[in-house]
Amino acid sequence: MAVTNRRKFLKTAGVAGAGAAAAVGVAAPAIAQSMPEVKWRLTSSFPKALDTIFGAGDVFAKRVAEATDNKFQIQVFAANEIVPGLQAADAVTNGSVEIAHTASYYYVGKDPTFAFGTAVPFGLNARQQNAWFYIGDGMKVLNAFYKKHNIHAIPGGNTGAQMGGWYRKEIKSVADINGLKMRIGGFAGRVLSKLGASPQQIAGGEIYQALETGTIDAAEWVGPYDDEKLGFQKVAKYYYFPGWWEGGAALHFFINTAKWEGLPKVYKAIVEAAAAEANGWMLAKYDEVNPAALKRVVAGGAELRAFPNDVMEACYKAANELYAETMKTNADFKTVHDSMMAYRKDAYQWFQLTEYTFDTFMMIQQRKGTL
Ligand code: CA
Repeated sequence: MAVTNRRKFLKTAGVAGAGAAAAVGVAAPAIAQSMPEVKWRLTSSFPKALDTIFGAGDVFAKRVAEATDNKFQIQVFAANEIVPGLQAADAVTNGSVEIAHTASYYYVGKDPTFAFGTAVPFGLNARQQNAWFYIGDGMKVLNAFYKKHNIHAIPGGNTGAQMGGWYRKEIKSVADINGLKMRIGGFAGRVLSKLGASPQQIAGGEIYQALETGTIDAAEWVGPYDDEKLGFQKVAKYYYFPGWWEGGAALHFFINTAKWEGLPKVYKAIVEAAAAEANGWMLAKYDEVNPAALKRVVAGGAELRAFPNDVMEACYKAANELYAETMKTNADFKTVHDSMMAYRKDAYQWFQLTEYTFDTFMMIQQRKGTL
């Protein structure tokens, strides 16, 4: 088609299009109503410096704005800008913000059932966690629990399996856990205290100094990319794996129940899609940045160590004892625990065939230098 003819054609088509829109003009008010102007505030539990974790909140909010032509705007605030990071869930529960981006296990002090939303010791890996959340009963049982706190949760990020932290001295056997002063949060800390450790709750910015001065003997954070920023390799050179308490630590968007229920259907669908994008983005981002960061921390003096098998076995046993004790007095904990652990049993039967054997073969090639 010649350029002039094409312009003429487009012009004609444009006119026809406008005519068509006018003909169905009666539908316009309904469309406008289903996409009203909405402005929400999102309080993140994380500082901007954690560009992977905080970044997933940004990915989410940007996508919601783009998909609604900026009609639904979610402003993202870092921890402490509205409320401290560990009070994000309360801010949602009491409605002072509409939405938070947070780690559910920060709230185990309110109820240990909150642990399952992020990760529990010897729980699921990231793939299994997502399968349980989305397709299994995960979000169904979790949201039945969160509703009691006025929260509707949607998965919104995953770190993948984390490292086991930084230690000033080597952990050669389970006896070395006895008396260990370690910065480690929530449920995992309670498992370690069964083996004689004294877990400490210390905010991210203060861990380095506590390790440097010997106030603590060990600290866990996330993995190479985030740990490197805090410089732990300079003060505690033994870098252990795996972080058995966080096999696939998940984040969620916590939304005030009334605010969620008040959203038009189309916005609910967009929020769910944008959250799913943030969930996938964060895991991909960690898988992208951790390999290079691992090389840098090792070059900077970190010595990699695997936890000895007797440590793993003793911690596994202690975790199971803790679950059994907690289930005796907490029905919600039992419901979510039973759902997750039944899922875990089947998931590992399957994963040991293809994922495990394929990855193991490829890792042997990596060690042989044949990749
Ligand atoms: Ca951690």
